Amino acid sequence: MKIIAIGRNYAEHAKELGNLVPEKTVFFMKPETAVLKNNADFYYPNFSKDVHYETEIVFQICKVGKNIEKEFANRYYDKIGIGIDFTARDLQRESKEKGLPWEHAKAFDGSAPVSKLIPKENFADVNNINFTMQLNGETVQQGNTKDMINNIDSLIAFVSQYVTLKIGDLIYTGTPKGVGQVKIGDKIEAFIEGDKMLVCEVK
Ligand code: MG
Repeated sequence: MKIIAIGRNYAEHAKELGNLVPEKTVFFMKPETAVLKNNADFYYPNFSKDVHYETEIVFQICKVGKNIEKEFANRYYDKIGIGIDFTARDLQRESKEKGLPWEHAKAFDGSAPVSKLIPKENFADVNNINFTMQLNGETVQQGNTKDMINNIDSLIAFVSQYVTLKIGDLIYTGTPKGVGQVKIGDKIEAFIEGDKMLVCEVK
């Protein structure tokens, strides 16, 4: 499996990092070794001094597809959860300045904690899902999928032009504003519609 992560999908977050809202959707990938499941701990990597959390709604692909049309996109995913797109912001900043790829800042081992995944039918409207993240008990990010610049169906249509989607792939849909640093000892708790879905401690 692979992870496809969407960048700058919430206008307010793009602004907070000083980025323009892109005309074209931005995506990047993380490998299978990035996944952390079952509320596993995150070990702070020694190559960064500025790891940030980005809390994102995640969905899982259930059908192989390429060049998927938006109107059929909802057949290609069946589950939704929440995850953290850990980012070594210092490395990313350096890469951006030099016009180099981001992989070492985004794709490192353990950089993609993901919650249990629940059937999309459990949601009245996948384009209106509230989610929050508490860092050490304090709410630091709040989002709703209605604020995504590209919704889930659009993302499937866009990404599948370039990359074949396969069963089990995870798509991270971008973070709302409020990203920030984590440090060793922090506890992340992520919620969908008030239900605690994910716990991740930074070790
Ligand atoms: Mg992200």
